[in-house]
Amino acid sequence: MERVILIKYGELTTKKGNRNFFVRTLYENIKHKLKDCHVTISKDISRMYIEFEESELSKVLDGINHVFGIHMYHVAYKIPTDLETMKEEIVKILKREKFKTFKVETKRSDKNFPVKTLEMNPLLGSHILKNINDIKVDVHNPDILVRLEIRENYSYFYIQYYYGLGGYPVGTQPRGMLMLSGGIDSPVAGFLALKRGIKIEAVYFEALPHTSLEARNKVMELSKKLVNYTDEIKLHVVPFTKIQETIYKEVPSNYCITIMRRMMYRIMEQLARKRKAFAIINGESIGQVASQTLTSMYVINQVTNMPVIRPVACLDKLEIIDIAKKIDTYDISILPYEDCCTIFVPKHPVINPNLEDAIKFEKKFNFEKLIEETVDQTQVISITDQKTCDYQELL
Ligand code: ATP
Ligand code: MG
Repeated sequence: MERVILIKYGELTTKKGNRNFFVRTLYENIKHKLKDCHVTISKDISRMYIEFEESELSKVLDGINHVFGIHMYHVAYKIPTDLETMKEEIVKILKREKFKTFKVETKRSDKNFPVKTLEMNPLLGSHILKNINDIKVDVHNPDILVRLEIRENYSYFYIQYYYGLGGYPVGTQPRGMLMLSGGIDSPVAGFLALKRGIKIEAVYFEALPHTSLEARNKVMELSKKLVNYTDEIKLHVVPFTKIQETIYKEVPSNYCITIMRRMMYRIMEQLARKRKAFAIINGESIGQVASQTLTSMYVINQVTNMPVIRPVACLDKLEIIDIAKKIDTYDISILPYEDCCTIFVPKHPVINPNLEDAIKFEKKFNFEKLIEETVDQTQVISITDQKTCDYQELL
């Protein structure tokens, strides 16, 4: 009996006017993800169907498990819509399963089918009872839920239920720029932004030679993990050394981080404008370090009007780590290479910075010119699911 994967959209169903756009984007994303598999994908208003080769099932499921916008899916049997054939095939399949109790649920989209939905459940149920020993019906808590969706030519029968990633298909929102460090939080922030359908580009602030190429490679490896959930991530590598050295020369040490982050936000805004992106995304988590107290965020955020999205702002570190492990970024993130923030951390960073003071310290040097130069010298690496990462590329 031929099997197909039946995909349900979930949250997409709430998008009335935009529905076609969402479904089309999901369709394209699934098609891209399964480009190396021999599949035929078709769609209607409420479902997507993937015909696959049995030998490739696990590869296909792995692909589906990396696509946002899928609420639930089933590996369903495709049976010709004929009452006797369906009864026979369903019993044949159920005989292979171990269960004591079951419940039948039928959905009838083919209004010409001779048996009505409410009559179909007992009809099929009693046929199953008659042909399989030692089982009974339990409508409240069955071991298996037997679902049959009756459609015009073929019907779909399934007993397995898998949750997809949920969220919205990537590309249903415009671009956002993700500040991607080598840490634990920012890849998780990127994953959560992708989940909302935002197409992300990553930005890494680098301070060679104070930071190593291994640190950059780590960010590239993290981008490669994130690219599993989208088709491409452009990684912008910002040469941040000159700005950082200037800050550490001109600004009192307790304000260095505050000013440095204000510079990062300014650069982010410029890169976002260049790339027609509508938001800055980062891994800040309230209270985690001195620069992430609410007062710090307030003072740092003053330099831009662009929305700054902080997907992990209200999560505990352990909750963030949990997600990092699920998306396979954790082991890369805990590799020891220092990044530009950790290297320049002062002993006593200000916890409650003052906006006027920050502005006063910035007057000590011509940061506009430095920022312009830095943005101009920023390089871009395209990371796709095809390409291996090679940090020599930018040398
Ligand atoms: P993470 O927060 O990702 O674990 P971290 O703890 O080293 O890394 P923080 O100092 O907490 O980073 O910085 C907060 C956020 O600022 C990061 O989550 C990231 O979004 C951004 N950020 C910090 N350093 C960099 C960098 N070198 N390049 C790009 N973004 C950065
Ligand atoms: Mg952090």
